[in-house]
Amino acid sequence: MSTIYDTDYIEELRVRNAMQPHRMKLFRNALFKNSNSWGEALATLPETARADFESNLTFESLEMSERHDSEIDGASKLIFKTHDHHLIESVVLRPKSGRTSICISSQVGCACYCSFCATGMMGFTRNLTAAEILDQVSQANRMVKSEGRSIRNVVFMGMGEPLLNMDNVFQSVEFLRAAPFFNLSNSRITVSTVGIPQAMDHFTKTFPDVQLAFSLHSARQDVREKLMPQARKYPLELLRESLLKASASGRVMIEYLMLAGVNDGEEDLDALERFLKDIPVHINLIPYNEFSGNNLHETPVEERNKFADRLKLLGFDTTLRYSLGSDVAAACGQLVQHKIKVSAI
Ligand code: SAH
Repeated sequence: MSTIYDTDYIEELRVRNAMQPHRMKLFRNALFKNSNSWGEALATLPETARADFESNLTFESLEMSERHDSEIDGASKLIFKTHDHHLIESVVLRPKSGRTSICISSQVGCACYCSFCATGMMGFTRNLTAAEILDQVSQANRMVKSEGRSIRNVVFMGMGEPLLNMDNVFQSVEFLRAAPFFNLSNSRITVSTVGIPQAMDHFTKTFPDVQLAFSLHSARQDVREKLMPQARKYPLELLRESLLKASASGRVMIEYLMLAGVNDGEEDLDALERFLKDIPVHINLIPYNEFSGNNLHETPVEERNKFADRLKLLGFDTTLRYSLGSDVAAACGQLVQHKIKVSAI
C-alpha cells in the first residue's frame, strides 16, 4: 500500500477525487503541522474522497509497541515494531534548556559491528524505508503534542548506519526539511556516520547545510580499527579529506566516546589535535554507557572534564554530552537487545 510520502500517488488520489489543491494542504497540515490523528486528518477531506484515501493509503508504517519514560530526566525510549515483526528504537529527549529532540534509527540492526555499540551485537537485518524512518518522528510528534511540544531537532544516532542506507535516509531528510511536511531547519537535522568517505562527500554535496556528525572515537588508526571494523576500509587520511569538504559548507560535529585507558590519554589527545588541525569542527565528548558484552569502561567524569579542558585550550570548540535516559537504557541498541534476549529464552 502507498504511504503519505508517495507524493505522486497522493496527487493521483487528489485528481481522481476532483479535489482542489488547497484541500490537500489542509489534509497535510492536519497530519504534519497539527500532529492530528489519522481519523482527524481524514475528516478534513471531502466526504466523497475519504473512503478512497482511507483504503489506499497507510498512515503509520510502524506500531509503537512500548514506551519507557525516564523518571530522572524526561527522556522517553520508544520501541516500534515493523510490519515484519522487527523491533527498532527511538529516544525522545526533552532537555531542560533546549528543543524537544528525537534520536531515530535508520536500519534494523547494523552491519558495522563497533565494539562499544550494543546494536552492533544484533547483526544487520534490513534497511528501514523512508516512511519507517519518518514515522518515528511523526508518532513522537503526536505523543508530545499533549505536552504542548513538537519535535524540533532530529538526529540519526539510533540503530543503524545512515550512510549505508543512503537512498532512504536522503529521502527522509528531504521530507524532514520540506515546508509542507516536517518543516525543520537544516541545522536541526543531524546525520551521524561511522565514516564512509564517498558517502560523506555525496551527503555534503546534496545537503550542504544539514549537520554531519562523524563518530571518530580515536584519531589513532590502530586504536580506531580495534574499536570499529569499518575503520580498516576507510583510513583516517581519507576521512580527513571528507571532513574538510563537509566543514567547508556546513557544521560538522565530531563524536568522541570516552573509553577508559583506550582513547583518553596524552597520545590520544596529540593524535586528535593533529587529525583535526585546521578543520572547523565542534567536538562532542560522550560518556560511555556500559553494557555486558565487552570489557570497555567509561572514563571517569573528572578525567573527561580534564580532557575537554585540554581540547578547549588547544582552541577546539568542545562540549561534554550529558547522558539522558540512562534509567530506561537509552544507549544505542540496549533495550531492544535486552528484549530479544528475553524472548529467545
Ligand atoms: N552508525 C552511526 C549512528 C549510530 S551510533 C554512527 O556510528 O555514528 C551513534 C552514536 O551512538 C555513536 O557516535 C556513539 O557515540 C553512540 N553510542 C554507541 N554506543 C554507545 C554506548 N554504548 N554508549 C554511549 N554512546 C554510544
